[in-house]
Amino acid sequence: MQCPACDHALTEKTVGELVVDVCHGCGGIWFDLFEIKKVDEQHETTGESLLDIEKDPQVVVDQTKRRNCPKCENMVMMRHFNSVKREIEVDECPKCGGYWLDTNELAQIRAQYVSEEEKTQAAQTMFNDISADAFAPMHAESKEAAEKAKRIANMFKFICPSTYIPGKQKWGAF
Ligand SMILES: [Zn+2]
Ligand SMILES: [Zn+2]
Repeated sequence: MQCPACDHALTEKTVGELVVDVCHGCGGIWFDLFEIKKVDEQHETTGESLLDIEKDPQVVVDQTKRRNCPKCENMVMMRHFNSVKREIEVDECPKCGGYWLDTNELAQIRAQYVSEEEKTQAAQTMFNDISADAFAPMHAESKEAAEKAKRIANMFKFICPSTYIPGKQKWGAF
């Protein structure tokens, strides 16, 4: 596979039970579906050996360029925030569900939350905060209020798709 960020060839790297693909050009890492979940928290120590991928200091990555999935043909990846903290933008393939992380992003992600529960909790708290005003008038069955609530839910889906589970959120079945 080719690096979606700098076009170098990716190299397989085994960490614990995982085999990920790393780029020794830009230092990025490719995770297949669900693989990232196994190393994105600090207590998941297998992830430590992925924090310092050897890279070529000459390689400069264009952060503004959209990237194609290294696995799927002609599939542009979606760029979105990793969590409601909105600090780290990651690339996710809408077809295969794989993730591309640039150099240092895994370290930043691991530093954000202690556990998956804490991450989910933060997402719900944020959603409750921003939607309290929007949902309150729904009791009056106002059409505009319902539309507004829907828009906020859609926005939330966009900021944090990995935390959003359709129909499973306690605050509504969007
Ligand atoms: Zn690269
Ligand atoms: Zn893909």
